[in-house]
Amino acid sequence: MADINPFESLQEQIDDAAAYTDVDGDVIERLKRPERVLSTTLSVDMDDGSMEQFRAYRSQFNGDRGPYKGGIRYHPHVSEAEVKALSGWMVYKCAVVDIPYGGAKGGVAFDPRDYSDSEVERVTRAYATEIRPLIGADRDIPAPDVNTGQREMNWLKDTYETLERTTEPGVVTGKAPSSGGSAGRVEATGRSTMLAAREVFDYLDRGIEGATVAVQGFGNAGSVAARLLDEVGASVVAVSDSQGGIYAADGLDVAAVRDHKRETGTVGGFAGADETLSNEAVLTADVDLLVPAALENAIDADIARDVQADVIVEAANGPLTPDADDVLTNRDVYVVPDILANAGGVTVSYFEWVQNRQRFSWTEKRVNDELERVITDAFDRLVDTFETYDVPNLRTAAYVVAIERVAEAFDDSGNWP
Ligand code: NAD
Repeated sequence: MADINPFESLQEQIDDAAAYTDVDGDVIERLKRPERVLSTTLSVDMDDGSMEQFRAYRSQFNGDRGPYKGGIRYHPHVSEAEVKALSGWMVYKCAVVDIPYGGAKGGVAFDPRDYSDSEVERVTRAYATEIRPLIGADRDIPAPDVNTGQREMNWLKDTYETLERTTEPGVVTGKAPSSGGSAGRVEATGRSTMLAAREVFDYLDRGIEGATVAVQGFGNAGSVAARLLDEVGASVVAVSDSQGGIYAADGLDVAAVRDHKRETGTVGGFAGADETLSNEAVLTADVDLLVPAALENAIDADIARDVQADVIVEAANGPLTPDADDVLTNRDVYVVPDILANAGGVTVSYFEWVQNRQRFSWTEKRVNDELERVITDAFDRLVDTFETYDVPNLRTAAYVVAIERVAEAFDDSGNWP
């Protein structure tokens, strides 16, 4: 895959969508770069007595609509350009679903699998100490991302609360329920993916019942989306993970596939499948709906030309290259963009933060009902914009909605000299 600078891609997406708005050009320039980026080096003691240095970042892209919000990624490829781009996408994701947050993202450039649990804890606490002056329940609220989860969020919260001599569970979301996490958080991304799919099929007057589905990536987002799509009557015929795919013409028993993956570590070898498929064959399977739920840039222009689904709902962040996006637009394939389809995660993070501030827990039913309202409202606004603005695709419509909302918040507040 060619090297695509993610920060330049973000800026291009903003320029493309901004052309359809009447937002002032100077304000658009402001919406193309982060307000501030912390770039730092953590010095952390290793178990063997040595000391290691880790590059770490936190980018606060825009706070016009509320506190900065975004995850923390642990990955060897974490870079300033990636963190800046991801923080920008958070701004537009929060705006398109209309939750009162700006956008941020952070990361530490390392592979936690190469380190012991206590070393990962010390990296996390060193990182938390560095970002402490920037974060807070009303300032900037971190969350999990690639290779971080409840454990890291709990350490972050504990470090912050200890140093600040307070209890402030809303300083971070994605916590374990015992530390103030929300019901429904783990399923939220798959749930918004299912809701987005249901809405787009309704919009196209087809109904999701009986639609055939292929899901690329059977992790947190993909496996939950597959199960919930199955529950609303779709037929999940193909799924894959990093080791390959499986297919069953009459539909896979999704719960049984999940149990099989839990036991064996992969979907391959599932007894209820008719045949095995390559990863690429899952993406180009003869289905009504394709759900990419693995990694970014999974579908390039060549694969896009062979995609047979005429609807794609992006559970993953950035699963299409920009060229693939153009190919699919020209082929009239409807793509519900990531910033709406997978926004369930950040939306339920927002509900977690609201509950933390209320010091009151909602039931799972309330969380799911509120999530459904947020996603269906966002989808209605998306198609309204798609039809009124004569934009080429749903992604551009999503950015138009988001850019207008952020620009309006900026205009309403006025500029500070
Ligand atoms: P995960 O690690 O739980 O699952 C990823 C899955 O993709 C795994 O099953 C892995 O085997 C599979 N995979 C990797 N390479 C593949 C390939 N080449 N072909 C097929 N499958 C492959 O991760 P996740 O949390 O489910 O995240 C998946 C995507 O969803 C990411 O892009 C992430 O940024 C996005 N996302 C997740 C959340 C969330 O709350 N989990 C929220 C928003 C966006």
